Amino acid sequence: MSAHPNGNCLRCRKPCQVFGCRWCAACYYPGIDETYRRYRDMIEEGYTRYQAKVQSGWGDPDEARED
Ligand SMILES: [Zn+2]
Repeated sequence: MSAHPNGNCLRCRKPCQVFGCRWCAACYYPGIDETYRRYRDMIEEGYTRYQAKVQSGWGDPDEARED
């Protein structure tokens, strides 16, 4: 798998439409950076990906369970 020149969405891993953007148009919403940061912080604090996703609001429980 080669990297897309614009980078890949950190949420769904699809290519971004905008250079340097961390999110594709489908995933982006105001505040996504903050939610993502909270999610990463929780993982660093030792939470599982599932717990971090649910508690940070990054993903809903059904989605998270598939990881
Ligand atoms: Zn996306």
